[in-house]
Amino acid sequence: MRKLYVWIIAITLMVFLAACGGQANSGETEGETGANSEITEGEAIADTSVGSEAAPRETPLNVVATTGQIADTTRNIGGDTIELVELLGPGIDPHTYVATEGDISAFQNADVILYNGLHLEAQLERVLEQIGDGGDTIVVPVGESIDELSLLNWEPEAGLPFDPHIWNDVRLWIEVSNAIRDTLVDADPANADLYEANATDYIQQLEELHEYILAEREKIPQEQRVLVTAHDAFGYYARAYGFAVEAVQGISTESEASTADIQTLADIVVENGVPAMFIETTISPRTIEAVQEAVRAQGQEVEVGGTIYSDAMGEPGSGADTYIGMMRHNIDTIVGALGE
Ligand SMILES: [Zn+2]
Repeated sequence: MRKLYVWIIAITLMVFLAACGGQANSGETEGETGANSEITEGEAIADTSVGSEAAPRETPLNVVATTGQIADTTRNIGGDTIELVELLGPGIDPHTYVATEGDISAFQNADVILYNGLHLEAQLERVLEQIGDGGDTIVVPVGESIDELSLLNWEPEAGLPFDPHIWNDVRLWIEVSNAIRDTLVDADPANADLYEANATDYIQQLEELHEYILAEREKIPQEQRVLVTAHDAFGYYARAYGFAVEAVQGISTESEASTADIQTLADIVVENGVPAMFIETTISPRTIEAVQEAVRAQGQEVEVGGTIYSDAMGEPGSGADTYIGMMRHNIDTIVGALGE
């Protein structure tokens, strides 16, 4: 009888300690865990529960991604293992997007929120920062994973240090893919092997994409490598793939294009004999059409070379409904308009 009591007490104590350990670790990162040099929440949980293996989650990891580019990359790395909510569909401008009630409840239900940051989602930034500061949700501005030395300047004096259009340089997007992988591994360590294998596959495809763009770009004569667009989304593209860029509007679309902006760009097009300009899916084609008319008023012609994807991806089934598809569409369209 006495032995039985001892056993009951011992088991109760073990259950209690395990429960306390679990609770203590479910929130913030713990101290050194020994086995790995990288410390994550999950590893800390693993150490107090089932030895070196992390316990599987009871429900799928609930991830919210803002832009299509982030969502698609997360889908490639997370696969069917995660539940993914994509906030900004085709044609939606992230610079001016305001959260709906549905978005707010998606944020509240999320385990992980991934957003571009660097002031791309200007109207969402504050609410996302608050969620990140407050509770258990892991909130990651993926753009901030890139070394600042690799980022292009925007308007530091206005509190906007860096150009947020980082996906337009595939090499920077590889860094973002690594950050997304690390975030999923931290949040759901039981599936770490899967996320890591998927990320390795996907990054291989991104490396091929980068080479493809470089090779296609060679079909455009040096002096015709000029991208004229409605807003200044292609700074990283220009730097990575050797184009000059000119745009009616600045890096954000938060303020309207003025007649003076349109006239200035028309003058640039005329002076440089630019053969074609490009429409963006997130911006009214009227901006570029106005430039075309202003060029015509000076007795010259400039074509609209097609539609390219700047800040949002394409409709489902368009072929540009993935990050890789969008980037391939863009270089193919640019080569079609400016190449020989
Ligand atoms: Zn933009």
